[in-house]
Amino acid sequence: MESAIEIRDLRKSYGDVQALDGVDLTVPEGSFFGLLGPNGAGKTTFINVLVGLVRKSGGDARVFGYDVEDDYREVRDRIGLAPQEFNVDRFFPIREVLEHKAGYHGISREHARERTEEVLKRVGIYEKRDTRFDWLSGGMKRRFMLARALITEPDLLILDEPTAGVDVQLRHELWETIVDLNQRGTTILLTTHYIEEAERLCDEVAILDSGRVLDVASPEELMDRGTDDVVVKLRD
Ligand code: ATP
Repeated sequence: MESAIEIRDLRKSYGDVQALDGVDLTVPEGSFFGLLGPNGAGKTTFINVLVGLVRKSGGDARVFGYDVEDDYREVRDRIGLAPQEFNVDRFFPIREVLEHKAGYHGISREHARERTEEVLKRVGIYEKRDTRFDWLSGGMKRRFMLARALITEPDLLILDEPTAGVDVQLRHELWETIVDLNQRGTTILLTTHYIEEAERLCDEVAILDSGRVLDVASPEELMDRGTDDVVVKLRD
């Protein structure tokens, strides 16, 4: 199977802070891959390097075989990112925000309208299409972030703590939507603090701590290996 993500000796420093300190990681195409780690482990930095928001200090990072910096144009339509923070244009109804985003990716106006309708229905907020982002509930905001990540029908969906701060029912609904996408062939990279989330969803999990990968295994193997000390630490 081809790799969706191939990382070798990836490094990123912010001044004296070594946010990524020689990360090696392979995410197979079609997999549901989890990145677990405590606050400050480097998860968001890792994601930001992958999507080209942060320049790496060293090492090699490839998505679908393309270098994330040199060949970024080749892959930007194939990656959907739902970031942790709500970096959304707040002055337009969410339908228009999505149509604009589709436009940035070169999708025709007509197709953008169809895609927008489709993704809003998929995440269950179609009836809110004429509402502005700030007027949505917290749970609906999370759903919107997922809808926005899906607008280009990405082959790789990156979710940075997608269920942080949402109630149990919405968490389960979001899980269902994400699992369905994975079953249709989308590769998923998900960061989380919740070991339960990784156990429930992921085929494979990497544990990141202080910018280094401590372990890569299935969630069950991690439990069996007695990495509970790391895992328990993640429950905060
Ligand atoms: P969290 O779970 O809290 O989101 P994380 O695992 O995503 O944490 P990062 O946000 O990637 O971790 O941070 C890794 C390290 O890099 C931390 O020590 C953080 O303070 C530092 N860092 C991240 N971004 C910057 C920045 N722009 N400037 C300076 N230091 C940064």
